[in-house]
Amino acid sequence: MLKIGATGWIEKEKPRPGPLDAIVAPLALAPCTSDIHTVYAGALGDRHNLILGHEAVGRVVEVGSEVRDFKPGDRVVVPAITPEWRTQDIQQGIPHQHSESLLSGWKFSNTKDGVFAEFFHVNDADMNLAALPDRITLEQACMMPDMMTTGFHGAELADVQFGAVVAVIGIGPVGLMAVAASALRGAGRIFAVGSRPKCVELALGYGATDIINYKNGDIVRQVVDLNRGKGVDHVIVAGGPENVLSQAVSLARPGGSIGNINYFGEGAMLEIPRLDWGCGMAHKSIRGGLCPGGRGRMERMIALVAHGRVDPGKLITHKFQGLEGVEAGLALMKDKPAEVIKPLALI
Ligand code: NDP
Ligand code: ZN
Repeated sequence: MLKIGATGWIEKEKPRPGPLDAIVAPLALAPCTSDIHTVYAGALGDRHNLILGHEAVGRVVEVGSEVRDFKPGDRVVVPAITPEWRTQDIQQGIPHQHSESLLSGWKFSNTKDGVFAEFFHVNDADMNLAALPDRITLEQACMMPDMMTTGFHGAELADVQFGAVVAVIGIGPVGLMAVAASALRGAGRIFAVGSRPKCVELALGYGATDIINYKNGDIVRQVVDLNRGKGVDHVIVAGGPENVLSQAVSLARPGGSIGNINYFGEGAMLEIPRLDWGCGMAHKSIRGGLCPGGRGRMERMIALVAHGRVDPGKLITHKFQGLEGVEAGLALMKDKPAEVIKPLALI
């Protein structure tokens, strides 16, 4: 990111590891909707000559003197969120994503250079990197740092219970992983809200039972009509403009839970519909969160894929070669033709 609205290539010094850190060279990289928000919507504010990217699988090239579990040559999954783990805040129960301050775990392409480079720096390597087993493909692995952990977090935030009725609003790559996570948690019925045929096809493959097209009218009405006139147990918000949060509140039954993983980029306020929130007394909960990162989380994602529970590799619709492929992938994410779900560059 050269500045808001402009991308290009720049030369920077090769990063050096502190005692606990690692330097990693990428094997696969994926551009993200968030990279587009960062560059073209200025979502993080004015940034100059910032290296973008936070979705990577790589090979360790150098480690600091105190790193115990990784050595040069190791293949690793690199989470998008790489917190400082040695903080008082974590000991006080504050989520690791905010271990130093609000959203502080999101460092790549935010508060430090990202992963779209020949080499990048990973803080606290032993706590943040996860070893990549041979049987997992680079395509599958590169969907773990953000897409998979975020989508799965949606199901965690909504606390999806087995046999429950779930609505997933938005079925881009993040929402598709929320559909897969809801199915794995044993949801009985899953309404998936989206419009693009490729996303609809994948949503059905990942476990959606009903497809709702938001372009065909009010999604609350559409879902409630199909759900015998009732709201749903859990709503996962994974796409759409600001008013989807209001729709989620209306869509949840009394006592229902809403898990939000969507990024809301406009306006100062988000609206809660007063009557559907029972004038404050409907026992509907709203939880929103940044995707979990760190080694343990990535190892869980690896376990899910290694044992065949989910195949996030299906999200990749476009593949490129080399670092230049990142540029092509980023352009695709910006324009988002209907058939694009997730591009990948193999380095
Ligand atoms: P996409 O743009 O690929 O997908 C968005 C989805 O929302 C699409 O299915 C789209 O439908 C749907 N949608 C658009 N408008 C509406 C509407 N009015 N009502 C209902 N659905 C609608 O995004 P991603 O999957 O890449 O990311 C989803 C969100 O997650 C983004 O906001 C992203 O910034 C955020 N995110 C959050 C993270 C976190 O840590 N919490 C991490 C990563 C991403 P259609 O098929 O028509 O396009
Ligand atoms: Zn991302």
